[in-house]
Amino acid sequence: MMSNLIFDLDGVVYLGDHAVAGAGETLERLDAAGHNIVFCTNNSSRTRAQCAEKIRRVTGYAARPDQIASSAMAAGTLIDPAARVLRVGGDGVAEAIKLSGASEVSEIEADTVVVGIDFSFDYDLLDRASAAVRNGATFIATNRDVTYPSRERLRPGAGSIVAAVEAASGVVPVNAGKPELTMRKLLEQMLVSGPVMMIGDRPDTDLAMADVEGWRSVLVDTGVTPAGAAVTPEPTHRVGSIVEVPGLIR
Ligand SMILES: [Mg+2]
Repeated sequence: MMSNLIFDLDGVVYLGDHAVAGAGETLERLDAAGHNIVFCTNNSSRTRAQCAEKIRRVTGYAARPDQIASSAMAAGTLIDPAARVLRVGGDGVAEAIKLSGASEVSEIEADTVVVGIDFSFDYDLLDRASAAVRNGATFIATNRDVTYPSRERLRPGAGSIVAAVEAASGVVPVNAGKPELTMRKLLEQMLVSGPVMMIGDRPDTDLAMADVEGWRSVLVDTGVTPAGAAVTPEPTHRVGSIVEVPGLIR
């Protein structure tokens, strides 16, 4: 029977620019078996095309843009097409704003502020974004992950930038990413009939999302959760890496 397999990316398929060993071959094998493969990432930095390209470049698996559900795309579904949007984020957030039909502005008169990972984030942008939010702009966060894993160490995630805007404005944002409803609605449009399995490395996002939807879940040891650490919610399966996923599919 065909399964929907939702893979988190960072810590599951790759770490930075390094593939998890065997990830590409595993994805090819699952694809060839006819399963619906979807990639769900709270990383908002890339467009769907850039994200698919990275999966191809790093793992060798021929990922397509229509397999990508990013937190930037989820945030985009919350933007009013008539909005004037101040962006804190990179290409992925810019694509989501454009697809929503809204326009981008750089001033504090913005009526919507979308905050994702922004590698050139600085005091000036924090000042403008927090001022717009304090003045009443709708505050949308792509996700609240405070860190993400690279091969060398944990790095600050979008959640750390969101926290800065939240602190400076005194306003709590709407969170679009995993495990929230907005991301789950985006994913549901990409699923086919059949069982759903979520494969991830973070209990608070990947496992929590599977838990609330009643999906089977798989925790891999290649990401932020140390092997053997106690986690909540508990996954259906716990494996060393993505290469063990085919053996879990009935
Ligand atoms: Mg991850």
